[in-house]
Amino acid sequence: MRDQNFDVVVIGSGPGGYVAAIRCAQLGLNTACVDDWRNAQGKPSLGGACLNAGCIPSKALLESSENYERATRDFAAHGITASGVQLDVAKMLARKDKIVSDFTLGIAQLFKKNKVAALCGRAQLLGREDDRWRVGVAGGEELRAKHVVIATGSAPRTLPQAPFDGARIVDSSGALCFGEVPERLAIIGAGVIGLELGSVWRRLGSEVTLLEALPAFLPAADEQVAKEALRAFTRQGLKIHFGAKVESVITGDEVNISWRDAQGETQELVADKLVVAVGRAANTQGLGAETVGLKLDAAGRIEVDERCRTNLPGVYAVGDVVRGPMLAHKASEEGVMVAELLAGQSGHCDLNQVPGILYTAPEIAWVGKTEQQLKAAGVAYRTGQFPFMANGRARALGETAGFVKMLADAETDRLLGVHIIGPMASELIQQAVLALAFSASSEDLARTIHAHPSLSEALHEAALAVGKRAIHI
Ligand code: NAD
Repeated sequence: MRDQNFDVVVIGSGPGGYVAAIRCAQLGLNTACVDDWRNAQGKPSLGGACLNAGCIPSKALLESSENYERATRDFAAHGITASGVQLDVAKMLARKDKIVSDFTLGIAQLFKKNKVAALCGRAQLLGREDDRWRVGVAGGEELRAKHVVIATGSAPRTLPQAPFDGARIVDSSGALCFGEVPERLAIIGAGVIGLELGSVWRRLGSEVTLLEALPAFLPAADEQVAKEALRAFTRQGLKIHFGAKVESVITGDEVNISWRDAQGETQELVADKLVVAVGRAANTQGLGAETVGLKLDAAGRIEVDERCRTNLPGVYAVGDVVRGPMLAHKASEEGVMVAELLAGQSGHCDLNQVPGILYTAPEIAWVGKTEQQLKAAGVAYRTGQFPFMANGRARALGETAGFVKMLADAETDRLLGVHIIGPMASELIQQAVLALAFSASSEDLARTIHAHPSLSEALHEAALAVGKRAIHI
């Protein structure tokens, strides 16, 4: 019989929960992690949406689809003739599934190594007795813990006029499992998921149309980056309609979408599959929030302070289920912070230094403030920009679209924001994250030796450009 008393019970094993559980255990806290995710074979599967149905499988397909596009479109420019290139979607999906299952097993092994007790089932807060929280796990088990960390993540929002049916109308998870390339793919929502998954299936041959409710494109990104991205995606063949209002969706042998355009005119779109990617909502249902008086905010997320403390003593919440960007790395950082606080250390997580990334082609990544945010806040700043077209490594890669843009305080030169659209932006941004974390100035980056030839030289040149002394433009 399992010891039902723990120092910490973590609910949810996504990047917020499993990282919190491992860090708690490393710090000597007796820890359990409860999750009810099961894979297609009905087996418990740790890792949450990120690993099972989000970040990792989507990146696997992005890579596969990029390779397909390289082979069918880009090789010729390198003097390589590839004839008879075939697409085996089943094999592509199996590769993705293998990556996922290897990683979920990896988390189970990490739990074993760190002596984290892993329990499968839906957890619910039942109440508090003698300074301990009672946590019920579906199936009958009841755990007791001094501290509870809620890391239950988020789930795709639904649209009443386009309910998921798992066949024609799917969410982001469904769009990672199409057995064949849909000839016509419609996507509601031109946000991160819509653009990433739209890019995957476009590369594999789908005709992709996105219906976006807002009049603007990627409002969280720097406006100049968003403009460049829209140009690039449109050139690639993604059709994006802004100010679109979806009125009705009828499914049969195909999907018939009736929508109003920005001028109020009714339009019809016919597709083979429809992906609804209109954001995600915090997973708080069934947690027992009402029973124990756990406070939620107006958006239905668990209310927390800067240290992820909820209104209940000993109960913390991290990741997508609380305020802030819904990003795996933000969740993990909060998980580490909470674990360290529970162990009497002084953890912290600065939400101003969370990088945002879109794994499209070109990739988009940023950290810190956008130019429009600085303008709105009345901050005086200087900018430096450098195009990948003038970077030797980007030319060799054949990926010359995009630029690096740096924003620095006009008076102190401290870096305030870095925005990248271009090859490997997801990797390059980390240099900027580090610079911001160490309160670096553009001068600091400009005085740092960057290897040649490398994509990172574009960051160096953008830093030099802040002081109007870029060499290669
Ligand atoms: P999102 O917020 O990025 O985009 C949703 C889009 O749908 C928005 O542009 C919104 O205006 C639009 N929309 C909302 N209602 C609509 C409607 N009725 N009709 C048409 N358009 C509508 O959300 P997402 O793409 O669903 O992603 C969910 C979350 O997952 C995001 O917070 C995202 O950051 C995260 N995520 C991150 C990554 C990454 O880091 N690369 C990848 C995937 C998802």
